[in-house]
Amino acid sequence: MFKGILIDKDEHGYRAALKDIDDSALPEGNVTVRVAASTLNYKDGLAITGKSPVVRKFPMVPGIDLAGTVEASSHPDWRVGDAVVLNGWGVGETHWGGLAEKARLNGDWLVPLPLAFTPAQAMAIGTAGYTAMLCVLALERHGVKPSDGEIVVTGAAGGVGSVAVALLAKLGYTVAAVTGRPQEADYFKQLGATTVLDRAEFANPGKPLAKERWAGAVDTVGSHTLANVCASTKYGGVVTACGLAGGFDLPATVMPFILRGVTLAGVDSVMAPKALRLQAWQRLATDLDLAKLGLITRTISLAEAIPVAQQLLDGQVRGRVVVQIAA
Ligand code: NAP
Repeated sequence: MFKGILIDKDEHGYRAALKDIDDSALPEGNVTVRVAASTLNYKDGLAITGKSPVVRKFPMVPGIDLAGTVEASSHPDWRVGDAVVLNGWGVGETHWGGLAEKARLNGDWLVPLPLAFTPAQAMAIGTAGYTAMLCVLALERHGVKPSDGEIVVTGAAGGVGSVAVALLAKLGYTVAAVTGRPQEADYFKQLGATTVLDRAEFANPGKPLAKERWAGAVDTVGSHTLANVCASTKYGGVVTACGLAGGFDLPATVMPFILRGVTLAGVDSVMAPKALRLQAWQRLATDLDLAKLGLITRTISLAEAIPVAQQLLDGQVRGRVVVQIAA
């Protein structure tokens, strides 16, 4: 038996509860992992509360991320005792995930835990931080350099946003943080932002083209915010879009793209190929300041994950949440 959060949906409704689960109920897979830590991302909040239909099979153990130790393996890449990390691949949506003491997975989905991180630190990064790194890599791939000008990060107090601010600042970029929590100015300054802007300035329909300001962007919000960011991006600038915290629509015009050569670069973490994942984790190991990671992280127990998932969706969680599973 092992402890895990189990989501059920039936005639009694949609509900998540901490349960004792029999090992025989674990899904198919060629690697069994003893989970040391997991985390709560926005998507885990949606899964646990049922606010959006991210869970596709029931019963489901949520948790799109985990870090732990291989307990059994018939996969050629993994041996008992290996320290591993998993992000995405539909885990916690269509395959049982990380918010449990044990997981059984496809070994192709795993990456080695970088030596730079403990399991808890890897989960403080989690999909949110790894996605922030994918956005930074996309900016770099499109040639955006610190000398080009300011980078704007939206949803800046969230998980993706906080790690993006910390990474970009460490890499020498000038960072503007867009947030609904401008009272947290000290937090953003500690992460390395030079400017803090109220998200209300971005939330309403704007002009097709606005004053050119940003050399690049990391957008986690979507909707009018993304449209306004594109409209105020400088000639040749690059906007990475990874989130929909404010809406999945994009009420924009083509003007920034056809008159200013702005690039809109989509970023997906779930199905990202292994080589890109390894690159992102390697760069996190060198480019993320662990003191800043500590600043943005709080740790909770598996039992607390259910109420904190609702707080996350209510915008009451700042930065990242680690779910400590093994003592
Ligand atoms: P999170 O920790 O909940 O952060 C989301 C942040 O967005 C909030 O902290 C808030 O920041 C801002 N926000 C929330 N509601 C908003 C609204 N109505 N209008 C404007 N801003 C709003 O979530 P996360 O884990 O960082 O994820 C952020 C987004 O990225 C989510 O949409 C998530 O689904 C997406 N994501 C996508 C990928 C991918 O593979 N593409 C991977 C990870 C995450 P402030 O308080 O600073 O305003």
